[in-house]
Amino acid sequence: MHPSKIRLIEKKRLLIVWDDGSESVLELRELRKRCPCATCLAERDKQSKMYIPLFAENQVTVKSINQVGNYAVQITWNDGHNTGIYEYNFLKRFSE
Ligand SMILES: [Zn+2]
Repeated sequence: MHPSKIRLIEKKRLLIVWDDGSESVLELRELRKRCPCATCLAERDKQSKMYIPLFAENQVTVKSINQVGNYAVQITWNDGHNTGIYEYNFLKRFSE
């Protein structure tokens, strides 16, 4: 499954139109909370349920989105964090 279109909605949500015609709408702050990069994973591990993100949730926006190969997108957040690679499978599952 691949996205045929990715669009930001009001800098708060990400709309993905998949190549089978289905659509996913993802909250940016939820995406950021579940950032799959090693740094964030370790951080969440350490903090477990006490985890409080260091960023102000309502200020989380995306600066840019780049495709990585043909399996993922790399999201650059407005605070400069850009090590999270979001695989299409992950994004698809995330929205269900
Ligand atoms: Zn991260």
